[in-house]
Amino acid sequence: MSRALVTGAAGFIGSHLCDALLARGDDVLGVDCFTDNYSPARKRANLIDALAAGLEFRRLDLSCDPLDPVLKGIDVVYHLAGQPGVRSSWGDDFNAYARRNLLATQRLLEATLRAAGPRFVFASSSSVYGNTGDQPAQESDRPAPLSPYGLTKAACEELVAVYRRVHGLSAVSLRYFTAYGPRQRPEMAFASFIRAVLSSRALHVLGDGHQTRDFTYVTDAVAATIAAAELGAEPVYNISGGTSSTLLGAITQIEQLTEQSALISFSPSARGDAYRTSADLTAAERDLGYGPKVSLREGLALQIHAAKSEPVELAEAVA
Ligand code: NAD
Repeated sequence: MSRALVTGAAGFIGSHLCDALLARGDDVLGVDCFTDNYSPARKRANLIDALAAGLEFRRLDLSCDPLDPVLKGIDVVYHLAGQPGVRSSWGDDFNAYARRNLLATQRLLEATLRAAGPRFVFASSSSVYGNTGDQPAQESDRPAPLSPYGLTKAACEELVAVYRRVHGLSAVSLRYFTAYGPRQRPEMAFASFIRAVLSSRALHVLGDGHQTRDFTYVTDAVAATIAAAELGAEPVYNISGGTSSTLLGAITQIEQLTEQSALISFSPSARGDAYRTSADLTAAERDLGYGPKVSLREGLALQIHAAKSEPVELAEAVA
């Protein structure tokens, strides 16, 4: 049994990671400061299963609170806390990205170093690549982010690499490609599409809908994250669902699964959104034994089922 620290434990992916670590018998300390990128009530609800399964939780802001106490006795740090989202990273909101991504990661790396020993796993993003063109992105490709968010993730990866190179920190960064599933952040495409279809409202597609994403079901991302803590030898791995779909293709599947038609309104594409994302998974397959287990159709069915059983007050708590 090992003792894990999960940052961003109340978030979408972090809460699923806590559930998986607890299910396999790990001792888990989760931290989160319930930032306002979406409803804190949702984040509290995300923690319910993990708390029932024995999660120890502390409310703490990585960008300013003392961190040494939470690193005591930790074997693995899973650093998932951060300010996600491409579209809101322009303009004055960049302050939150600088603080919650760059500063928070730097402070956590310093504390991890002082704790001398823990493995460090960092949640990076496919947004470091920008457009991947016709080829699946390989980890060795030169990062070319299209948004300030992507830039902060690329910079955090570099920061992790500096601590690895100079201080010998045992660390790995994972480039997640668009995760989805129950508890997905409410502003993300599938969550908002499913909400709209279930309540017979128009759903908003930014761009022409033909943009493609390599969607990753959340439990696949979590399995890869735990495997990377144990087996990852490279500094960086792509983690994706392994098959791409257009947004319109995914909407058709949502219509079939809900047996309801979608009313679609189109708006201009958002600044910083890549047109195509696609991952080369060779390194993750080879080193982590990774293989996505959940198809897009199965994953969407699970997310729709969870959305249908969500309490009304949470379904409305999208801000
Ligand atoms: P999320 O917003 O649901 O979770 C992030 C959590 O971090 C939130 O609960 C927030 O309150 C917490 N947090 C932020 N700043 C903090 C700080 N300073 N101190 C303590 N807690 C803080 O986001 P998510 O979708 O679960 O993403 C998790 C991580 O994975 C993020 O780092 C994100 O950038 C990365 N990522 C996500 C995706 C995706 O598709 N969801 C894709 C690529 C990368």
